[in-house]
Formats: sequence, structure tokens, C-alpha cells
Amino acid sequence: MANMNTPWTEYMEPFKIADNLYFVGCYAASSHLITTSEGHILIDTGYPQNLYQVIDNIYKLGFNPHDIKYIVHSHGHYDHLGGTKALVELTGAKTFIGADDREYANGTLDLTWAKELGFEYYEAFEPDVLLHDGDVIRLGEVEITTLSTPGHTPGTMSFFFNTTYEGKTYRVGTHGGVGPNSMMTWFLNQYGLSFDCREKFLAGLERLKGEKVDIFIGNHVWNNDTKGRYERMMAGEKNPFIDPEEWGKFLDRCKNNLLTQLKKEEEESNKSY
Ligand SMILES: [Zn+2]
Repeated sequence: MANMNTPWTEYMEPFKIADNLYFVGCYAASSHLITTSEGHILIDTGYPQNLYQVIDNIYKLGFNPHDIKYIVHSHGHYDHLGGTKALVELTGAKTFIGADDREYANGTLDLTWAKELGFEYYEAFEPDVLLHDGDVIRLGEVEITTLSTPGHTPGTMSFFFNTTYEGKTYRVGTHGGVGPNSMMTWFLNQYGLSFDCREKFLAGLERLKGEKVDIFIGNHVWNNDTKGRYERMMAGEKNPFIDPEEWGKFLDRCKNNLLTQLKKEEEESNKSY
């Protein structure tokens, strides 16, 4: 995993995934740019410490960050929305986040995981649009369907939209947040949060199995092996991101990962008594 205290130290080259879809993020946290005829959509801004890289990456690909019209967030954690306040000042973009993560973003609740990552959250902002299950975000010819998949945070939203590549249409999908970290007993107890987030998370995984996804993009590079796929692409493989099998496998990995971590935690706590 990335070095979370110095997230800028592991740089990722930006690159094209499909006709209107680009990776512009960092190793520590992914950001994706969707270009449209009406301006651009950025999914997640990443750590504030990395924002200069995201901006630079967008320029490197030949786009202008000032053309970002919408900033859409997968969930309200520091490593996904930390750069938003500064980017809004630069671009005037409209911000979107799951309704139940509003108080994470605007700083009412101290739950952005900034402290756990070794930072303070100074970048609070009031989101412009609160997303609910089934909402569609439209810009130009792009339509992003948003599904509520709580668990990692209450307002975690998963996104689905069409793209094209070499004349064919493909469905892109991303799960908004899958880390078991914020569903562990110690964390829920520390902040007085409900344990039902785990059931909601597992139910969300089941529900997302019903979505057909040809291109799975992760909000962290380790979710879809962004780096490995990029390297394969550089080595001449046609487009390793088009991989319709990966989505289902990923959802299964997420389930196993949570259950394994919970089991480990239980074994640890039994040991100490
Ligand atoms: Zn998170």
C-alpha cells in the first residue's frame, strides 16, 4: 500500500482508459477524468497534498483543469475529497456527494479519516448537490447513474456510465468505497457508530453484482490493479482495462476481505482477555 503520510511520493503517469475516460490520480488515491462536449467531470480529487499532481496530470493529457464543471465524490473520506475545496476555488466546479456524507464533507462530523491518515481536515466544503440512490448526473452526452452503497461510509455512492473505445460501447463501473477499515469494531466504538454498516455493505455488494461492468475503475489503484494494467498497456497489450470478468471477482474479494478482517479482529480481541 501507498505511503499514506507522504501520498505525493508515489507518482502515477496519467493515461487514457477509453475515448472519454482518463486516469489522472495518484498511487495513494485515484482520480478519473471524464471528458464531455460541455466540460469535464472529475471523480474524486484525492489528498490535498496530491492536488498539484492531479492538476498537472490533466494538463499533461492535453486538457484544461479549468474546464472541470463537476466534481463527483465516491465518498466523504479525506483521500477522496481533500483536494476539492482548492480545486473549486480554481475552477468554480459544482460538487456532488452522497447525501449521507454531507456532514463529513462540510466538517460537521469529524469522520473524514484525516486523523487516522496522519492529517487534519482543513478543507471542509458545503457540497452543491447531494446524491441519492438512482440519481443520474448529466453533462454533455455523459450520464452517470449513481447507486447508494453504504458501509464504508453512509453516503458511499457507486457510479456507472457508458464509454466508447475503438467504435464499441462499454459500461464503466466503480464501487464508491470498499475498505474494511471504517467498519472495524474499534473505529465504530470510538465514534459511536452503528454496526449495521457491515450488513449494508454486504447487501450493496450483492446488489452491484446485478450491474454489467466491462471496465471496472477503482478509487484506489489496488482495487483494479490500475498500475499493473497500465504497465501491460504500455507493454503493448490492447486494452487490459476492458475485462468484463473483473467486476464480479472484485465484489467477491471485497466480501472476503471484510469477513477476514472481522475474523482477525475477533481473534485478536479474544487473545487479549
Ligand atoms: Zn474511504
